[in-house]
Amino acid sequence: MDELLHSIEQKVRPLIGAGKVADYIPALANVDPNQFGIAIYSNSGELFHTGQADTEFSIQSISKVFSLTLAMKHYGEDMWQRVGREPSGNPFNSLVQLEYEAGIPRNPFINAGALVVSDMNQSRFASPHYAMREYIRRLSGNQGLTSDKTVSNSEYEFRARNASMAYLMKAFGNFHNDVEDVLHNYFDNCAMRMSCIDLAKAFSFLANKGYCQHSGEQVISAREAKQVNGLLATSGLYDEAGNFAYRVGLPGKSGVGGGIVAIVPNRFSVCVWSPELNTSGNSLAGIAALEALSDSIGWSVFG
Ligand code: GLN
Repeated sequence: MDELLHSIEQKVRPLIGAGKVADYIPALANVDPNQFGIAIYSNSGELFHTGQADTEFSIQSISKVFSLTLAMKHYGEDMWQRVGREPSGNPFNSLVQLEYEAGIPRNPFINAGALVVSDMNQSRFASPHYAMREYIRRLSGNQGLTSDKTVSNSEYEFRARNASMAYLMKAFGNFHNDVEDVLHNYFDNCAMRMSCIDLAKAFSFLANKGYCQHSGEQVISAREAKQVNGLLATSGLYDEAGNFAYRVGLPGKSGVGGGIVAIVPNRFSVCVWSPELNTSGNSLAGIAALEALSDSIGWSVFG
């Protein structure tokens, strides 16, 4: 496995230069683009990695999966009254569907959907970001994880789009808490810093029927894990979910920090990271690395 990971790194590193680091959050624009890491964690607890797999980066939208599973545990099926389960076919930060779909976002992985899920968590916890941070620390087995205040403050300053969708949903009655409070918590969650190794471990419950072996916790039920994987496969990469299914064939979730997590059900959780993004906001070298891995190991869930 080490040799394979090394050869994949050699193969995809030359792609660095063809994409663009996220700069709509000014504090992310300064990240060195020339970085790449990958980590694979097996259901039996083996860890394989190469490159900068223990360098922390901004997890951004990958946090939406943690928010969803935390909310699911409490709200169960009721949560689907407020957020849909269909791919949007639109960019992650699009507002267009909200207006004619009565403020119900298409799915929990576009920004509008994640904001509604954050609103649900806001109703439950006195300190929603701290509840989330504890949850992520437990799932990753890393008690030292923190959120980068410079990044979350920068995103709050340039929050116009996210604020617009949250206020529009509030106008439709699909937002129950103070918008600005929810935005702060949402940005703090997105600004969590984790490495590929932390993320591969933190996502292992989705590869393992909802069970996190290193914390000994049944995070969600096996049925819910299957459901989350289905949503990740259809919406985890926004308007590129089809392309990702075609090239990689695994449930996955990306973030504009350049991380992508993928699940090989019943076997592995994987995280790749390289900061340069394609036009859909997904890591260019990251997708290529997952495609190469999926091709060489025969991982696709589609056969
Ligand atoms: N925090 C980012 C935002 O709300 C997350 C987007 C992403 O990673 N796709 O715009």
